[in-house]
Amino acid sequence: MNLHEYQGRELFARHGIPVLPGQVAATAEEARDIAETMGSTVVIKAQVLVGGRGKAGGVKLASTPDEAYARARDILALTIKGLPVHKVLVAQAATITREMYVAIVLDRAKKLPLIMLSAEGGVEIEEVARTAPERITRRHIPLDGLRAYQARALFQPLLEDGPLVQQAADILLRLWAVYRDGDCSLAEINPLVVTGEGKVMALDAKVIVDDNAEYRHREWATWRDPAEESPSARKARERGLSYVKLDGDIGCVVHGPGLAMATMDLIKHYGGEPANFLDIGGSSNPEKVTAALEIITGDSRDASGASRVRAIFFNIFGGITRCDDVARGIVQSLAQNPLPVPLVIRLTGTNEAAARKILSEAGLSATTSMDEGVRDVIARGQEVTA
Ligand code: GDP
Ligand code: MN
Repeated sequence: MNLHEYQGRELFARHGIPVLPGQVAATAEEARDIAETMGSTVVIKAQVLVGGRGKAGGVKLASTPDEAYARARDILALTIKGLPVHKVLVAQAATITREMYVAIVLDRAKKLPLIMLSAEGGVEIEEVARTAPERITRRHIPLDGLRAYQARALFQPLLEDGPLVQQAADILLRLWAVYRDGDCSLAEINPLVVTGEGKVMALDAKVIVDDNAEYRHREWATWRDPAEESPSARKARERGLSYVKLDGDIGCVVHGPGLAMATMDLIKHYGGEPANFLDIGGSSNPEKVTAALEIITGDSRDASGASRVRAIFFNIFGGITRCDDVARGIVQSLAQNPLPVPLVIRLTGTNEAAARKILSEAGLSATTSMDEGVRDVIARGQEVTA
């Protein structure tokens, strides 16, 4: 889950990272009221879950409440990278003398958190990463954690000034606590600024938390913003389905993450491209099967409204999951919602014979071979294209 900036700032503040006070507004009037109570220059910032708001006109300064009203009205009318702006953050503004970049991100290949640091923070950081990657310092955080001296050593070459290095290092240590205790996969401050008063502080917050740790964080349920979640992602989450959207054209319904991986590998092996990773989990009641098929066909429309998915592969290796349950689910689901694309079913394992009977009574068939199923679904998808 991606957090909004205002949520990230709250999390930062709780961990003692210096941020300037701010409040969220859903209307220009509210923004004016907040600016009035702040009594200083404010910054109005679009709260959408996408980067590059500054460049898209989603971050503006306002020196009076009336100006705050006007800027908020403009920003609330924007759509940034396809996301309509529903809320703005109205925060006390800082005077900036330097903008740096600092982030802690999970390096999956090294299986360690990675600190990324640059003296050239701000809205051009992606450009820096592309054209001058050597200007971004990278350091892994060892298994026993980040030490104060390591944090200071990282900022010393950037800031060179004792008190500034001390402040920045303290922020990095606190950011590490945010990342570690918050089960984050990313905790980023861009820009991390030096203000006109010689204070180091976070002017932005980008935080991604790892959904697999949700059971440890009751609070996350209150952070989730349904307005920002795609309808398919929401549906999958509500039905307890594990769903990842990919770029290909073969929809996959499987049970169990291992089988999902194997299925995607085999599709790729035979030259196909999976459209998604959808795991219906251990038990397979008809509602879950229906939800899975709806998600795959519904979510995958391109701009013209045509389905991007050209064929669907149902891959079940029955263990605890009983094949007849799944078969019943498929039949019921298809009776209610006929599929717009070909369906290939592979099933084997517990109650396989009963499952085949149910399917054949409904005019469906299934293969036992995963290999055969995968080749078949790729071929069917290509027929549709041709
Ligand atoms: P992003 O573009 O979505 O990452 O949004 P940011 O919050 O990072 O803001 C973009 C840019 O706006 C920053 O890099 C700053 O240059 C500027 N900015 C943001 N907040 C302030 C502020 O309080 N004062 C000033 N002077 N500039 C700000
Ligand atoms: Mn930023």
